[in-house]
Amino acid sequence: MKHLLSIEDLDRAAIERLCDRAASFAEVADRPIKKVPALRGRTVLNLFYESSTRTRSSFELAAKRLSADVVNFAASGSSVEKGESLRDTVQTLAAHQPHAIVIRTPWAGASKLITQWTDAAIVNAGDGQHEHPTQALLDVYTLRDRLGSLDGLNVWIVGDVRHSRVARSLVLALQTMGATVTVAGPPTLVPQDIAVLGCQVRYSLDELPQADVVYALRMQNERMKQAYVPSLREYAANYQIDSRRLGARQLLMHPGPVNRGVELAGDVVDGPRSLILDQVRAGVLVRMAVLYEVLASGGGPSTPASGPGRGRGTDHPNPELHPA
Ligand code: ASP
Repeated sequence: MKHLLSIEDLDRAAIERLCDRAASFAEVADRPIKKVPALRGRTVLNLFYESSTRTRSSFELAAKRLSADVVNFAASGSSVEKGESLRDTVQTLAAHQPHAIVIRTPWAGASKLITQWTDAAIVNAGDGQHEHPTQALLDVYTLRDRLGSLDGLNVWIVGDVRHSRVARSLVLALQTMGATVTVAGPPTLVPQDIAVLGCQVRYSLDELPQADVVYALRMQNERMKQAYVPSLREYAANYQIDSRRLGARQLLMHPGPVNRGVELAGDVVDGPRSLILDQVRAGVLVRMAVLYEVLASGGGPSTPASGPGRGRGTDHPNPELHPA
């Protein structure tokens, strides 16, 4: 695998391989010294044009646990504020010869675009409303870890689907792994054409009790140019997941950040059915697996690795799990 730009580029075998590799890294997190030398000498550049808590911290931790050098770049406080373009910024930072660039931007397709401007491996950490592939992978990992398999699992994704890059990546990843997906929310926030991805669409939560997993999405106000719901109070009355709506056998997920009292009631966030912190923990492992794949593994069958820092040519899932 040279880059990770979209879940569309991954088949079931590739998702399983990444999850297996992530699982092989789990014991590193339990060590007193949480480090293996797998990416020693490689440089990972985190290039974030949008705010982030979980994704950025977990990519940084993932790279450091693999012994890579990490450069963190946030657009605010940089020359972007003086008008430097994405292309000039990428080419400037590429002069430092990073082996991988992890990029988040508000622009759909930006991660693909920058593959033309640098030889580094590119990992999409969220491109506008388009995709967030590592979020979907960590969600698959979390469910697989908890349930063993996703085959036949019934997952409902509830909330602001329209503005959600998580939803697009997640629908694809869950279905690839054998789950059935329903997206639900108010008609203004759930575009009918999302059904082309193969999921079902619902505008009420009447059938929510059928779900095995309820995945709530945040109202993404920063992407809204108009009011999509009459009021947050009305939205919460119809779509908030609370202890009345969440059944005792159902699992709860959310990509974060949570707006308590809007898409989720506080008691279910902290309740026994919530996998939200498991998702955060899985984020480090899955991002270790992704960085390892693009930088050290020699690539999967369809995308041979080449270029600086790649082409080590091993398929072993766990080649360097000895202490640094
Ligand atoms: N953290 C996720 C994202 O970056 C979800 C969200 O912001 O609501 O897309």
